[in-house]
Amino acid sequence: MDFSLLPQIAIQCLLGASAIVFTELVRDAYHIAGHYWQPLKRGHNLHHKAYRPDLTITSLEMYQKAQLNNDVPEAIAMLGAAAILAACTQVSVLWIGCLYSLVFLIPAVARSQGLLLQTDVTHKPGDLIELPKPWIVNRTYHWRHHFDDQNAYYCGHFTIVDKLLGTSLALKGKTVAITGASGALGQALIAELSKHGAKVVALTTSDRAFAEGIEVLHWQIGAEEELRSRLQKVDIFILNHGVNVYGDRTPAAIQTSYEVNTFSTWRLAELFLETVTESSHKALKELWINTSEAEVNPALSPLYELSKRALGDLITLRRLDAPCIIRKLVLGPFKSQLNPYGVMSASGVAWAIVALAKRDFRDIIVTINPITYILFPIKEFFQSLYFRLFSK
Ligand SMILES: [Zn+2]
Ligand SMILES: [Zn+2]
Repeated sequence: MDFSLLPQIAIQCLLGASAIVFTELVRDAYHIAGHYWQPLKRGHNLHHKAYRPDLTITSLEMYQKAQLNNDVPEAIAMLGAAAILAACTQVSVLWIGCLYSLVFLIPAVARSQGLLLQTDVTHKPGDLIELPKPWIVNRTYHWRHHFDDQNAYYCGHFTIVDKLLGTSLALKGKTVAITGASGALGQALIAELSKHGAKVVALTTSDRAFAEGIEVLHWQIGAEEELRSRLQKVDIFILNHGVNVYGDRTPAAIQTSYEVNTFSTWRLAELFLETVTESSHKALKELWINTSEAEVNPALSPLYELSKRALGDLITLRRLDAPCIIRKLVLGPFKSQLNPYGVMSASGVAWAIVALAKRDFRDIIVTINPITYILFPIKEFFQSLYFRLFSK
């Protein structure tokens, strides 16, 4: 074998792959235009009318009309754009984009004429089984575009455009419950989530007053079970409460740190995961857990660190077979009652958390410490791999 050809082959493969990504970007642009540009709206509306929430088709006639007025022109747009790109650049491997478009155009024409009855993979009928994937659009991901929020989850195959636009997670109309609601970050998150159209439920163990319109639930450590029925109707549950005993190392401080930071959070997490019972919950329900940067960096408070690390590890273990998306909030020092020396502002941290969640980051790292951005993903990867290999 002539190894000197290898770089050439690698470049050709890369160009071929980028032709496919380009064609998919055209598909996503066409889809977005179908929601905002009048000439395409009518055809795209038919696509939305063609499916019921279990993704069975509403009628064969509607399905065929949707294929003819939406899927066929969409594939023609992809084919045309890929041809223009290949012709203008004179790079022959870019014609792969045209071949790729034909893979969608031919079945769409056949479906519109009643010659092919099987739908594509993202519209297969039946219960949702997988969780939404972060980088590739699967059925559960796309289901949310039809039945959660039609102004989000636009992508057809790669999730790049949704990540850029911040449409990988819709918060509008979602019921979001948050513990530690009286704290600085809790307050800031309530404001930020409300701004994005979420209905917030504040869970607190204190008597602090909240703004009008915010549902407030009082709860106690150890009495988590009492929240079960309210959590059934919660879409996103943010576990954000915590305690910091600073330099205290008495048995009482150990007990308090683990009971509040680790076990009450874990009990609430399990309680919420048990409410994921319906097919749609796999697409809509999410658990966000503030495990803190203490997972990988010193917090200058040994018991805070120990109890948060134990929580972080438990969540990594539990995430292996979670029934819904679990996001970790890995936050650096922000100003709060727990940490008066914090350098970041709680409102800035809340803004960044929501911005990253809307881009479907599963580990949301917000800190000024650059080491965390390197250490945390490495630690999380190997910890998760270790748990996967030695537990079941
Ligand atoms: Zn669709
Ligand atoms: Zn649409």
